[in-house]
Amino acid sequence: MSNEPAATPTPSDFIRDIVAQHVADGKYAGIVTRFPPEPNGYLHIGHAKSICLNFGIAREFGGVCHLRMDDTNPTKEEVEYVDSITDDVRWLISGWADHVLRYKRVGDTTAQRVEPGEGTEPFYASDYFQQLHDYAVALIKAGKAYVCDLTPAQTDEYRGSPDKPGRPSPFRERSIEENIALFARMKAGEFPDGARTLRARIDMTSPNVWLRDPLLYRIRHAAHHHAGDAWCIYPLYDYAHCLSDSIEGISHSVCTLEFDVHRALYDWILENLPVPQPRPHQYEFARLNLTYTVMSKRKLMQLVKEGLVSGWDDPRMFTIRGLRRRGVTPEALRAFAIGVGVTKFNSLTEVAVLEHAIREDLNQRALRRLGVLRPLKVVITNLPAPVTCQATNNPSDETAGTRDVAFTRELWIEREDFMEDAPPKFFRLKPGGEVRLKYAFIIKCDEVVKDAAGEVVELRCTADLDSKSGGPNAGRKVKGTIHWVSAEHAIDAEVRLYDRLFTEADPEEDGRDFKTVINPHSLEVVTAKVEPSLADAKPAERYQFERLAYFALDKDSQPGRLVFNRTITLKDAWAKEAKKV
Ligand code: ATP
Ligand code: MG
Repeated sequence: MSNEPAATPTPSDFIRDIVAQHVADGKYAGIVTRFPPEPNGYLHIGHAKSICLNFGIAREFGGVCHLRMDDTNPTKEEVEYVDSITDDVRWLISGWADHVLRYKRVGDTTAQRVEPGEGTEPFYASDYFQQLHDYAVALIKAGKAYVCDLTPAQTDEYRGSPDKPGRPSPFRERSIEENIALFARMKAGEFPDGARTLRARIDMTSPNVWLRDPLLYRIRHAAHHHAGDAWCIYPLYDYAHCLSDSIEGISHSVCTLEFDVHRALYDWILENLPVPQPRPHQYEFARLNLTYTVMSKRKLMQLVKEGLVSGWDDPRMFTIRGLRRRGVTPEALRAFAIGVGVTKFNSLTEVAVLEHAIREDLNQRALRRLGVLRPLKVVITNLPAPVTCQATNNPSDETAGTRDVAFTRELWIEREDFMEDAPPKFFRLKPGGEVRLKYAFIIKCDEVVKDAAGEVVELRCTADLDSKSGGPNAGRKVKGTIHWVSAEHAIDAEVRLYDRLFTEADPEEDGRDFKTVINPHSLEVVTAKVEPSLADAKPAERYQFERLAYFALDKDSQPGRLVFNRTITLKDAWAKEAKKV
């Protein structure tokens, strides 16, 4: 059922071990996981790890996975983000875990799960606002929640700190009747923002500050992107999350490590309400951190809003959108996200590990093409007539076949493949030197033509006309082989060459502002000369311009105007490092 490359092994980790045990014990009727993004930005590569973990578990244990918008905050969330998140998740799991994704019917607020299709949409925490409210009333009636009139600053002060116990709010002992009445008035919109909150009545002296009467509801007179203007009180994350999990029948609620201190609250809420059993439990793993990027949506948003990148899908961004646009495939991103593994220890992953996964994937699938990024004219002075050469489409895939490329009197080669005062180890073209043109002849540089400014503008060369494949000198060896295109046949393409967005591996080291270490050379645009077959380049296809890099067609392309993004260069520093150890 899976298209996953054989290189991606089925992983095991402490969370999967727990799930496996629960399956063996028959603890749950079925395994149900969820991926619960807050729709306040686009997904990034860290989310890819969480998506692969949650969908991966569902897939491996015969379960299902919900995509749920964790949308309890009305003021920061937008429909644009809901749509992009949904699309990115489906892109990332396509061909791998589509069959475990579950949705709900549009407008259904009861968490009945169905397969995605027409008339369906992701789950929304905001669909449970009524039920969450009713549960809050149940907590009040049980004497386990109260309306508090402390200001936000007072609430913080009363809460204390980990080494200093909190003090009870003066409103903690309100009667149940008064609490019910006040909560109803909060809901009816009688009080301004921040005037009152609903708090759980747990333990102001708990060593875990999250148990010191945490806020459950606050007043926010704001419309909600999904729930409309039905509400002016909104539940807080900790309260809404565990109950949303319970309402959806989630078995394993997997989140990142910083939530481990919240787990006691997750458990307290579910243990103090009449929720269905067996209830969900929370498990934490270490988030992905990657060198040469910032990871939080807030910081990525800053890059977008301040125009430091062209948008959320700028190919230099480590958003799923950016990686997609750059030409990374879902297979490569999954191989990376699964390959980094799941642990309890925070660490920093080298971006080279991601780059390695991208190269492995593209090496298998990319069509080989000839393209010259910075052209230098070569004239073959002894070529009697154009010659047809056969080029291999993909050495990793025999079925990809070959194609004809025209070899003509005037060619383009890469400017950096010629050097006038070349050192002895320069095995490309130099005055008087020989080089093989890939799939074609060995040529010798006879003359260097310069313009008035002394710049090299043309090389006049002779070809060994017997040195092409099939010719008597086909086996003749020269040290270097370079790529080329026929000047007569080549077409222009805009090529966007990306480098890392930051000059430092940890852009925020020692609290530095990441905007001070932006790489001013992270984008270079060139007009390349590429072989004519690329006029039919397709967005779904991947290309290797031989000897250079992997490329993908950009969405800015139009008929007659090709735009390519360099996904990644061929050079693999990581593979070399990996071989050393
Ligand atoms: P951000 O700080 O980027 O906004 P977040 O955790 O607030 O991240 P959410 O939308 O709440 O973003 O995240 C959805 C899910 O993705 C959560 O379960 C969260 O734990 C997980 N997640 C977020 N960042 C990472 C990461 N770097 N590595 C692994 N999982 C992550
Ligand atoms: Mg968040």
